[in-house]
Amino acid sequence: MLTSIVGINWGDEGKGRMVDLLSESQDVVVRYQGGNNAGHTVINEKGKFVLNLLPSGILREDKVNVMGNGMVVDIEHLCKEIARLRDGGISITPANLKISDKAIVCCPYDVAQDCLEEDRLGDKKFGSTRRGISPVYADKYMKKAIRMGDILHPEYLRSRLETIVDWKNLMIKDAYGAEAYTVEGLLEWFDKYGTPLKDYICDTGYYLDKALKAGKNVMLEAQLGALRDIDFGIYPYTTSSNTITAYGPVGAGIPNHKVENAIGVMKTYSTCVGEGPFTAEMFGNEAEELRKAGGEYGAATGRPRRVGGFDVVASKYGCMVQGANEIALTKLDILDTMAKIPVCVSYDVNGETVDEFPSGEALNIAKPNVVYLDGWNESTVNCRKFEDLPLNAQKYIEFIEKAVDCKIKYISVGAERDAIIVR
Ligand code: GDP
Repeated sequence: MLTSIVGINWGDEGKGRMVDLLSESQDVVVRYQGGNNAGHTVINEKGKFVLNLLPSGILREDKVNVMGNGMVVDIEHLCKEIARLRDGGISITPANLKISDKAIVCCPYDVAQDCLEEDRLGDKKFGSTRRGISPVYADKYMKKAIRMGDILHPEYLRSRLETIVDWKNLMIKDAYGAEAYTVEGLLEWFDKYGTPLKDYICDTGYYLDKALKAGKNVMLEAQLGALRDIDFGIYPYTTSSNTITAYGPVGAGIPNHKVENAIGVMKTYSTCVGEGPFTAEMFGNEAEELRKAGGEYGAATGRPRRVGGFDVVASKYGCMVQGANEIALTKLDILDTMAKIPVCVSYDVNGETVDEFPSGEALNIAKPNVVYLDGWNESTVNCRKFEDLPLNAQKYIEFIEKAVDCKIKYISVGAERDAIIVR
């Protein structure tokens, strides 16, 4: 059976935590898009782990983890992430980690180009994570990228680099005036960080197809959320890949399989990293308190996240484009001390009330219509059944469940593995 775990909002919904929990019943966990711009924080009995590139199933010993062809892989970062996890007592071998030979390598010149462009933009910057993600996806579609499988063929790798580096230097050196890259320098980099990964590189599409046909459970793990999808998100403040369920089988290498269970991870309030329209945004003390309570600082960058109340318009749209059939609602406990809980129920666009998520300039000028629900002022962290929750917490959940029109099956009341209510 093929299951996906995807973000309903702007990312940082707690997908890593939910994959860590729900991967128990899975055999294989697959990352199908994005790169090390992701930051999944997982807390379990072994400690606290931040995962950028590795699928969250890596923390369970008996799971196979796949990095799919839809990903972009900074091999230097991956080697360091693997070393960091091994230091934390996690075993990583070619038996539990498989990297697609078709995944794209994110190279040092991509990282440089990302930083140079953000610096050039100055005040108009996008809020890029500066990890080379948008340049490397652009390389992919211009067919001027290196794939993981090329690492296995040094002569071919050299010939690819010879063409690509000349072209890249037109931007890096001639346009931005930065130092040029050399083929020899890059080959050294590949030697240092590509060689240790050789045994992990394989055709993961065939591997997954066989696993599914043999009746194994495979889980697709998304990075970021629906509103960051390159097609359906808040373009241009999106990521450079498709974060949605529908892309999952493509980015995993199994376009012949359908996702049977799409679990959307949705947070009880809103957060957004970086620039772009964020209609439900809160400011001042109210925002600062929520940010502190929720620990809303980027796992990959440490940047304070913008925060807001739950956004019905954006979340209902997120459920729709994800094709979610059930929801995992996270961070209920963060609202425990809030007297009145803001919920953005519709938008006002040029004086018109709108309940379908707008795009482009209509979204930029949208104003929130906010209602306040009663808080519960009581800790929920030890609740393990829906009936144990304070009545106002139950009402809050039922309110947003009805508003987004998707069943809330899981409710998370803490970061730890067992802090969960299953309805
Ligand atoms: P992801 O990228 O979607 O996996 O989300 P992040 O890792 O960026 O953010 C989720 C953060 O919230 C992590 O630090 C989690 O440990 C934490 N977290 C997840 N669920 C809960 C919850 O229900 N309550 C609390 N207090 N923290 C949670």
